[in-house]
Amino acid sequence: MGRRIPGRAAMTRQGLAAAHRIVVKVGSSSLTSRGRLDAARLDALVNALAARRSVGTQIVLVSSGAIAAGIAPLGLRTRPRDLATQQAAASVGQLLLAERYAASFARFDLHVGQVLLTADDLHRRGHYGNAQRTFERLLALGVIPIVNENDTVATQEIRFGDNDRLAALVAHLVGADALILLSDVDGLYTGRPDRADASLITEVDDPAVLAEVRVSGTGSAVGTGGMATKLDAAAIATSEGIPVLLTAASLVGEALEGRTGTLFGAVGGRSTSRLFWLRHATTPRGRLVLDAGAVAAVVQRRMSLLPAGITAVTGDFDAGDPVELAGPDGAVIGRGLVSYDATDLPALLGRRTLELPEGFRREVVHRDDLVVL
Ligand code: GLU
Repeated sequence: MGRRIPGRAAMTRQGLAAAHRIVVKVGSSSLTSRGRLDAARLDALVNALAARRSVGTQIVLVSSGAIAAGIAPLGLRTRPRDLATQQAAASVGQLLLAERYAASFARFDLHVGQVLLTADDLHRRGHYGNAQRTFERLLALGVIPIVNENDTVATQEIRFGDNDRLAALVAHLVGADALILLSDVDGLYTGRPDRADASLITEVDDPAVLAEVRVSGTGSAVGTGGMATKLDAAAIATSEGIPVLLTAASLVGEALEGRTGTLFGAVGGRSTSRLFWLRHATTPRGRLVLDAGAVAAVVQRRMSLLPAGITAVTGDFDAGDPVELAGPDGAVIGRGLVSYDATDLPALLGRRTLELPEGFRREVVHRDDLVVL
């Protein structure tokens, strides 16, 4: 009894069945029970992925479970709350997880490769390119990359925190045809999934609907705590042209054929990895406040940002760093790579380019280095 929001999404269910490169993300609760790995459930997941691999599809697996798998081996009773113990648990658990995946895929003569990333690795363009090349090579060699956050070294500031968003970033990084998010619920519901009046939403392909659902997701309308991060991940991936399927880990076989769950149809086209990086993977180092004329020039006419249109600068950044662009009311309208150091900018503000000394006549943010949000 699924509810469908009409649109183009139906086509991508078949598209999913035909996808050549798929990123699959699985959550901790689908792989562990009582603080240990659940070998049977992990094997069931691997069986389905190996079957799809055997017909030539390239698979990247983003797997959580490091911390959860380390709990019982360390004699802990519950998931630790402090970061240092979480990191210790992840250090133990990640090894067990990787070992288990290696053994499980070996049943099908398949090799796995471990890729541990921190947010910092995707925030820096050089690292982003490195990671991209590694994935390409692994996939070309027939390996199944298994990705997780590098929990042992990620501090609070540079954590992704959740693997849903990491999976969306990886999906773009590898140019995936589809992203499958597996958890313990079989999709997005109109209310709490355990309530009789709640029904499964089978397809979402209107970003406005997604925004609406997202708001209700913070309350009781959507039943699981993890739904908000899944919707965020779906928003990131679909805006980049990658359809997303959300379903239960136990339904992975059907999911790989597009036959279950909630499908989020692709909304936007794919942007270059440079602009994607700027939009989703950077942390702004400062903020430029624009006057109304500059907002119109940047947003509607897609022009470069000049010193004349900037009224204030905050933050401590160097030329080349990502900064936020805000309108006169403070609302963020975009993000760009600034071409001056923070210390050089105040003297230039509000001045017309021709009045500026030579060497300071370039744009503050060039249009090719700017995304409108
Ligand atoms: N990286 C964490 C782990 O493997 C999980 C993060 C998440 O639950 O999304 O334990």
